[in-house]
Amino acid sequence: MTSADSIWQAALGAIELEVNRPNFRTWFQGTRGISFHDGRFTVGVPNAFVGEYLARNQRSLIEKTLITLAGQPVQVEFQLSSGEGVLSSPDKEHNLNPRYTFANFVVGDCNRLAYAAATAVAQEPGTVYNPLFIYGNTGLGKTHLMQAIGHEVREREGRVVYATGEQFTNDFIQSLREKCPEDFRLKYRGAETLLIDDIQFISGKAQTEESFFHTFNELHNQNRQIVITADKPPWSLAQIEDRLRSRFTSGLAVTMQPPDLETRLAILSLKARESRTQMIGDVLEVIAREAILNVRELEGRLNRVIAYAKLLQAEPTPELAARAMRDITRASKCGDGCGPGDVIETVATSFNLSPGDLTSPSREKRIVLARQMAMHLLQTVNHLSLTEIGQIMGRRPSTVSHACEKMERDIENDPLLKHQRDEIARTLTKGH
Ligand code: ADP
Ligand code: MG
Repeated sequence: MTSADSIWQAALGAIELEVNRPNFRTWFQGTRGISFHDGRFTVGVPNAFVGEYLARNQRSLIEKTLITLAGQPVQVEFQLSSGEGVLSSPDKEHNLNPRYTFANFVVGDCNRLAYAAATAVAQEPGTVYNPLFIYGNTGLGKTHLMQAIGHEVREREGRVVYATGEQFTNDFIQSLREKCPEDFRLKYRGAETLLIDDIQFISGKAQTEESFFHTFNELHNQNRQIVITADKPPWSLAQIEDRLRSRFTSGLAVTMQPPDLETRLAILSLKARESRTQMIGDVLEVIAREAILNVRELEGRLNRVIAYAKLLQAEPTPELAARAMRDITRASKCGDGCGPGDVIETVATSFNLSPGDLTSPSREKRIVLARQMAMHLLQTVNHLSLTEIGQIMGRRPSTVSHACEKMERDIENDPLLKHQRDEIARTLTKGH
């Protein structure tokens, strides 16, 4: 990765939190950082249409984000990417990402079972677990593991077809429209190993489901291997037809969970090696310390720290890493006027108290409630960790945890309190 690109990856991490998901996918995916000098940042775009859209509609968000990262004025320009040399671009021929191999996959308690099942399937497709159904939230390595199976089977000259649920749907619709069911059949039913990623996409689409049902049966009857991923276990895919659901559960269903601290550390050091960055263990520990919900987020954090160090032309020390993560979390989650101090002040005003009351030891009912509200907002708006909130409020992390949980319950049961919370959050995220 070039340094401009690692900065851009960091910026994308922040932008992803600002725009909605379809927008992000449509306009930002496939962009990359090309160069950065003299305050000019060049973003590579896959086509002119995307470039025009971004220049017209997202320029200020992009510049704002880059300025936060760079700490200096930045002007952004867009340029057509040549489309080559991007490390993670899927290989055209068999559309598998070359990085997604077993060798690049870190095994921990969170994914051990899924990993074991995947390697077993890769070694003997069609015999052990058929279908193999891998489920879990987004960003936990489902696609990575599935494509690792694909790579390994391909190495032994096996015919692998990988498609997302979305592609499967599009191919199916196209085959109907262009009246070429044979092409469709050839592609999918000719597979020795069929990998369908994010199957939830086809749920509720009756005709596509039907077509997948037949594909599934035909392959399964011939002992061809089928691997499926989804964001939920088969029995929770509410919209999927019963007969498909029962097919999905007829093999093995395994889950993937968010990584624990040890696994996070191992993943970070692998990713640091991959991007050829020198990072001492202490730095990685700072990045790994906070829990995360998905691995992509973890990579985003690492990229931020790398970008930060490059921008400041400084060694990535633990202090620098801590600062990079703090600054970015704040900058990306809310605009100016939304630091912890602002939260305490705004909450105090809303409850007719003074900021000092909130951090005081007082057990007075109203103060306790306001204090819990502040902790809740520091958690949900500022995304601070329990430890960080504890430091600000002078409480133990376990106390913070209880307070936040209680506040969430109270808000759910008390519309007035919920209204008050929403008002405060609105004031905060608008900036004063
Ligand atoms: P999902 O398909 O579950 O949404 P992905 O497979 O796309 O998740 O993973 C997101 C990113 O995290 C990818 O870059 C992937 O390489 C990385 N990743 C996830 N789990 C691991 C792991 N255990 N070891 C190494 N990289 C991982
Ligand atoms: Mg995926």
